[in-house]
Amino acid sequence: NEVLRLEAIAKTYNPGSPAAVEVLHGLDLSVARGEVVALVAPSGAGKSTLLHIAGLLDTPDAGRVVLNGRDMTGLSDRKRTEARRRELGFVYQFHHLLPEFTALENIVLPQLANAVPDRAARERAAGLLDRVGLSARAGHRPAALSGGEQQRVAFCRALANAPSLLLADEPTGNLDPGTSDLVFGMLMALVRETGLSALIATHNMELAGRMDRVVRLG
Ligand code: ADP
Ligand code: ADP
Repeated sequence: NEVLRLEAIAKTYNPGSPAAVEVLHGLDLSVARGEVVALVAPSGAGKSTLLHIAGLLDTPDAGRVVLNGRDMTGLSDRKRTEARRRELGFVYQFHHLLPEFTALENIVLPQLANAVPDRAARERAAGLLDRVGLSARAGHRPAALSGGEQQRVAFCRALANAPSLLLADEPTGNLDPGTSDLVFGMLMALVRETGLSALIATHNMELAGRMDRVVRLG
């Protein structure tokens, strides 16, 4: 029972030119339902490329991306965007919250984009903020929050539409070690509580060791 299966993925940038860069070649990777997989790779190994392909933001030159049993290869951009919005959650190193909206609103907005009624969206957002200990910060804009708080809001936003797979690229990479540890613990608790599956890229071997399985790239 796999949430994500990448089969024989190949990706070359600038193919056929002297500047061609073969980044991925015959890459296989799968994430089982409820599994949290650490992706560990030296810089330049193709970690971002892999996450973009898994996240349906980029297409491979060869191979298949299967999400919840459905082959995403060859789907139209519109269908891929729809699948991304409903089935995937993203967290990056930087929070990317909208600065002019409050923490709560940042978690409400992606739900409205999925046609969730306003009241239900607000209730879900408030519930998520409560689970990461930020109820008292719901009305604050991102600039008024600490780095760790901003990332916790970003986690809530990624989970707003109850995705089946979370894709994270160094989700605590911008935080000092103590905060990183604390915030990562909250992310893992959220993921476990909701039965979410996750593929989390990190350079931090201590964090990788707290996940179910480590996949190395390069
Ligand atoms: P990582 O995230 O592991 O550092 P990336 O997936 O970003 O690696 O990049 C892998 C390789 O592909 C690097 O050598 C990078 O320079 C190259 N690369 C990434 N994106 C592009 C692009 N759009 N055009 C050309 N080369 C790229
Ligand atoms: P970094 O890993 O360096 O912090 P970012 O967090 O800025 O990088 O984002 C990672 C990548 O994901 C970027 O290349 C960005 O263009 C892409 N990205 C982020 N969100 C979206 C989105 N909603 N649609 C398309 N591309 C996105």
